[in-house]
Amino acid sequence: MTYALPTPTASTSGLSVLGGDLPVTLFDGTVTDHVNLDYAATAPCLRAAADAVNAILPWYASVHRGAGAASQRSTLAYERARQSIGDFVGARADDHVIFTRNTTDALNLLARALPADTTVVGWAGEHHANLLPWTNTISLPVPHTVAEAVSGLEANLAGLTGPVLVTVTGASNVTGEVWPLAALIEVAHRYGARIAVDAAQLAPHRPVSLATDDIDYLALSGHKLYAPFGAGVLAGRADWLDAADPYLAGGGATAYVAPVTNGDLIGYAVDWNSGPARHEAGTPNLLGAVALAAVCEALTAADRTTLAAEENALVQQLRDGLAALPGVGELRTFPDGHDRVGIVSFAVAGVSASDVSTHLATHHGIGVRDGLFCAHPLTKRLLDDASARAGADLGATAVRASVGIGTTPAHIDRLLAGIAELTR
Ligand code: PLP
Repeated sequence: MTYALPTPTASTSGLSVLGGDLPVTLFDGTVTDHVNLDYAATAPCLRAAADAVNAILPWYASVHRGAGAASQRSTLAYERARQSIGDFVGARADDHVIFTRNTTDALNLLARALPADTTVVGWAGEHHANLLPWTNTISLPVPHTVAEAVSGLEANLAGLTGPVLVTVTGASNVTGEVWPLAALIEVAHRYGARIAVDAAQLAPHRPVSLATDDIDYLALSGHKLYAPFGAGVLAGRADWLDAADPYLAGGGATAYVAPVTNGDLIGYAVDWNSGPARHEAGTPNLLGAVALAAVCEALTAADRTTLAAEENALVQQLRDGLAALPGVGELRTFPDGHDRVGIVSFAVAGVSASDVSTHLATHHGIGVRDGLFCAHPLTKRLLDDASARAGADLGATAVRASVGIGTTPAHIDRLLAGIAELTR
């Protein structure tokens, strides 16, 4: 099967991504353009990120460690990037914005920075990055409704003493469903708890703000936010972060280091820095920071309401198309009609998820993800629910299609046509 190459995919926002016209060879030797519908795993590179990296590359030198002009410029670019990203996530004046490798790294950092007796309250359906780093946890069952999520949290916060952290995803990486942050934040704060939001899937699609939304901590990944240069961020309240042991021990995190001896060397006396540097030992990822900041600036300048509306239309087109196919069941946590970002997971009765994704790749040049999406407990539960609704066994794994800047209605049509071939 051959396809006409699409016209360049300019969103009305004027933002564009790289790689929209990559040629791929199909099973029969024909060549078509690749359709990336796997943004939730890793989004393509926004042109603004690539341009910013190209602009700084000639000046690329050590950050925080040199008196030369290139090093000074690199340090300035790194700290400006921190400011831009802080602005993008609505950081308060006294919040820290700490560069990490990704969301997993950011949440592990936060887990290590909690006061010793902190109770962590979260839901069993989180991505593993927001499930496994925590200790001393109360794990709430995956809810069926928003009301159940909110009342379940309230019931479990009542009576807790000592520091409490509630941790929740902003948007599910399995279903795209947006969690009821405002209500959960209100409950958490009413009971004196802090709240951390895993914004890995929310931030690429919707504005989210520490200050405006009253979030205590927020984590995100650059590579899911159109900035594929290996940087992520943990942003939020400074006090726990400054009181904690450094996440990484090494140069850059230290203000003073001296040997301690009693005749023999028995260790080192260290004054650790406070502020972001405390947790950023080692030479930082300048290009990752610059790329992520460029995306944040570009998204801030864009009309995000229109972007979200365009994305909603694509999601609706996809969901309507899937609903019309026999034997296809969609995964969801909350009742139908719940607000969601550009992620839809589904399964096809009688065809394994890996066969579906292989068929889409080899026959249609489409990239989707199949499996349990690093959220095994949630995906298994939602597959069971979807099988029950469909009255058919939908299998043990699912297919996930995810969209963003650069996705077009023609891409969705192609996906639906490919799936329809398997349901005939
Ligand atoms: N949280 C959510 C909701 C995710 O979707 C992901 C990745 O898929 C992560 C956390 C982990 O992100 P990363 O792999 O960039 O650390």
